[in-house]
Amino acid sequence: MSGEQLQAELQALESRYTELAARQLKLDLTRGKPSAAQVALSDALDGILGGNYRAADGTDVRNYGGLDGLPEAKQLFAGMLEMPADAILIGGNSSLTLMYAVIDFALSFGLRGPESAWGNSDEVKFLCPVPGYDRHFAICEHLGIEMVPVPMLATGPDMDAVEKLVAADPAIKGMWCVPRFSNPTGCVYSRATVERLAQLGNIAGDDFVLMYDNAYAVHTLYPDAEPLASLYAACERHGTLDSVFQFGSTSKITFAGAGVAFMGSSPANLAAFKQHLGFQSIGPDKVNQLRHVRFLGDAEGLAALMGKHAELLRPRFEAVLEILEAELAGTGMGEWLSPRGGYFISFNTRPGLAKTVVKLAADVGVALTPAGATFPYGNDPEDSNIRLAPSFPSLEDVQATAEVFALCVKLASVRQRLAGN
Ligand code: PMP
Repeated sequence: MSGEQLQAELQALESRYTELAARQLKLDLTRGKPSAAQVALSDALDGILGGNYRAADGTDVRNYGGLDGLPEAKQLFAGMLEMPADAILIGGNSSLTLMYAVIDFALSFGLRGPESAWGNSDEVKFLCPVPGYDRHFAICEHLGIEMVPVPMLATGPDMDAVEKLVAADPAIKGMWCVPRFSNPTGCVYSRATVERLAQLGNIAGDDFVLMYDNAYAVHTLYPDAEPLASLYAACERHGTLDSVFQFGSTSKITFAGAGVAFMGSSPANLAAFKQHLGFQSIGPDKVNQLRHVRFLGDAEGLAALMGKHAELLRPRFEAVLEILEAELAGTGMGEWLSPRGGYFISFNTRPGLAKTVVKLAADVGVALTPAGATFPYGNDPEDSNIRLAPSFPSLEDVQATAEVFALCVKLASVRQRLAGN
């Protein structure tokens, strides 16, 4: 575009923006919460036990005990993590709590006894693929773990960079991963990435832990979404089961924050963690575990429910992607991926514009996830990444928000071009 054309474009965008401001919108695309219709899909959980509180082995779930969970719950959720049932521990309502507990344990007590406690060292570092999940980064920040960003590629974390860093720096004690429909890029780690992740345990010290948060393991939007290779099988082959903790929950399957969380690891890790857990709890909420087993049934029941979630989520994702495509494709003003599952669309503005776009949107009543939130310490060095979370608002609101977003991206980009940088 010539300078004059750009000026004309700017004027048109400014006047559309002023019109929007007058509409006094109140829209929110900040967090990846399931919608009211999605959580309602699991309303049958309430009362499903119908007075039958006995687990398959006769355990009365109303009473104390069973620190690592009901066998039938382990069986059900082991399938989601593609691990054997005896490698699973069922927690409470939140996988994030389990992740925090594992890191806290490794820091303070040591996964392999007191000498192995990370806290014995002056420096403890974690590799953080970026963009990534802000609550993972918040755990590290809260516990004083230094975060080292590594780039996310379409195939998962940049494994050349990861292997080099892990081999060179013994202070690196762990790494975050969201392997399927990653938060926020939506990518699925390739088979080669999974294979290389499984071998990190042979490069790193024996106190290294891969925090493999498979929060979106079954959260497909399309039946042909890419599968994820089994990390457990790869670790078995490479003898590295001790280097991995896997996590999942039903927060985005049944009730968010009132579901069941679980983790899987090696026999040695589970034994050490369970011993520690025994000081914190007499046992988890087995009533909720049994409700989930009765409600979900088996892998087929789970897949059927996820299909219903997909029906509600797909139009929202497609609405955003269609608007981005129509308004921004080929303009050079941004880049994004079209995820086949998960909860997010990750958008990269031209460098230096993410904060501006988020502010422009906020000023006309559209709340977006704060720019920088997808990076350790809230610091996106390029000021470019914005996470869009279309699951919660109504379809009409998602459409309206995506239109405002596209306009704000254009406005910020044209202003930047005219300013000559
Ligand atoms: N991990 C990831 C990657 C998430 O996106 C989320 C929730 N948005 C969680 C964990 C939280 O899970 P939970 O509710 O089981 O703590």
